[in-house]
Amino acid sequence: MKMNIVSIPGDGIGPEIVAEAKKVLEAAASHYGHEISFTDVLMGGCSIDAYGEPLTQETIDACKAADAVLMGSIGGDTTTSPWYKLPPEKRPEAGLLGIRKALGLFANLRPAYLYPELAQACPLRPDIVKDGFDMVIVRELTGGLYFGPRSTREEGGQLVATDTLVYSEAEIRRVAIRAFDIARKRRKLVTSVDKANVLDSSRLWRKTVEEVAKDYPDVTLKHQLVDSCAMQLVQNPGQFDVVLTENMFGDILSDEASMIAGSLGMLSSASLNETKFGLYEPSGGSAPDIAGKGIANPIATILSAAMMLRYSFDLDREADAVEEAVRQVLADGIRTGDIMPADVDLSSIRRVGTAEMGSEIAARIK
Ligand code: NAD
Repeated sequence: MKMNIVSIPGDGIGPEIVAEAKKVLEAAASHYGHEISFTDVLMGGCSIDAYGEPLTQETIDACKAADAVLMGSIGGDTTTSPWYKLPPEKRPEAGLLGIRKALGLFANLRPAYLYPELAQACPLRPDIVKDGFDMVIVRELTGGLYFGPRSTREEGGQLVATDTLVYSEAEIRRVAIRAFDIARKRRKLVTSVDKANVLDSSRLWRKTVEEVAKDYPDVTLKHQLVDSCAMQLVQNPGQFDVVLTENMFGDILSDEASMIAGSLGMLSSASLNETKFGLYEPSGGSAPDIAGKGIANPIATILSAAMMLRYSFDLDREADAVEEAVRQVLADGIRTGDIMPADVDLSSIRRVGTAEMGSEIAARIK
């Protein structure tokens, strides 16, 4: 297969971690007989420095012409960087919102997986996570409360603010289809999360998800209220496979799920549209505090690249190989600084930098 990938290294640690994800993708491609072409484009702070704006039409056009986009992270130190003296629409993060909108990325995927080797970084009690957990949160990204009409007005001598939570059947259906398709590649369980005991939008959500489920008789559908889901995530996270939810609930629940999975340097993410196209990036930011030191953990970006193989190219075997290589590296005791274990015997642990971690993973692609 020929893969045409645009990469947005971005700012801070972005270029360092993207270089390692490319290294691993090249290794997987060469092992399995595929061809990859990478085109680098600017976005975020580096684009402001070069062109005076965080996202140019050239970058949007290049992304639209690609099969998939691999992104590092964008932004700088928000207190010291001159980028944050610019008006909000000219700052690095405006590029991020702009690219998601321009590419119609309505489904955000955030896996939360507990590696046995990193279990001590999980803040939950060992008896709760003894069997581990492996879930993907599928969050609707372009509708709901964050995009509905809003206003603040004066009424009877005080300010009154309104936000509106709007969802159409079409918006719910397309993200539900995504979640069921993903469940088919996993353990075939979708937990749809809503607040159907209170909200009309949630009742429409539930009805529409049930309609979509009819086309997936091999996938089990469960419904859960968002408050109950928030509790279950920390009480019994092993019960979840694919968690499907609307924008705001997903924003909160995906952060909760990330926390129980441990280090930010391990958390991948993908944003998809209706086609096979997707934008793949680590969940963390540009980490200006460690940028340029060669110590950032590239694993989140490498796991995001594995998701790219799985969801944009349907290369499940290759994606499995990358994920297995990551597991193997951890089992072999190789760690970047952020995932160094505390309070254990370090004689079997080898601390490495960004590039060495990428090389060790690439070398384990089988
Ligand atoms: P951050 O995620 O960049 O960093 C938080 C902490 O986690 C830091 O101590 C950092 O060193 C550490 N960290 C993050 N990724 C790591 C990795 N791969 N390996 C090792 N350690 C890692 O969050 P922040 O400091 O709040 O934000 C920094 C900048 O990133 C800001 O400009 C912010 O707006 C931006 N940001 C961008 C994105 C994105 O590009 N999608 C997401 C979040 C934040």
